Amino acid sequence: ELIPIGRVIEDAVDRATTRADAKSITLQVVSGGEWYVEGNFELLVNAVRNLVDNAISYSNERTQVGIGAKLDDGRIAIAVTDQGIGLSTEDTERVFERFYRVDPARSRVTGGTGLGLSIVKHIVATHGGEIRVWSKLGQGSTFTILLPIAGGDDGRALEQAAEQGILISTGPDHE
Ligand code: ATP
Ligand code: MG
Repeated sequence: ELIPIGRVIEDAVDRATTRADAKSITLQVVSGGEWYVEGNFELLVNAVRNLVDNAISYSNERTQVGIGAKLDDGRIAIAVTDQGIGLSTEDTERVFERFYRVDPARSRVTGGTGLGLSIVKHIVATHGGEIRVWSKLGQGSTFTILLPIAGGDDGRALEQAAEQGILISTGPDHE
């Protein structure tokens, strides 16, 4: 199924709004263009949602979280950036491990299970992509999902699908 990345981000952000509002965190979406990936809508929303949830959980009140998509070397990069507590170099290498949580005492209040990022990594791998993290303690983090573009690196899958008579899903409430 061809999935429009813009809709994935939109849904993920919609589902995180209540939690963001509770901490007066602003979610800023920068949508770059109409790109499509081949995959599963709910799984992709879940992956982005997990990153946005983390950005909210590990940030202070009244900060900003940016969510954006852009072309990166023939792939789509979906980046979630926060101004939160950040991660040490050591921890950035471990956060994708199952059940890994940085300093349980520090993150106890957020009450997570430490599974979120391992699930994101799995979903991204299933879609032929990869996940990267940039972070600096006390400054914030950027988690980037890289996914192959459907229909060539110009991302013109919509036109190509139309030519082939393929129906394109734009998500559950647009079907
Ligand atoms: P959950 O299973 O509910 O998602 P979790 O958030 O603890 O629990 P992960 O999402 O896998 O689990 O994240 C693992 C750990 O990585 C977190 O406990 C936290 O210490 C750290 N982490 C994740 N995202 C961020 C972030 N944006 N900023 C700082 N630390 C983060
Ligand atoms: Mg999490």
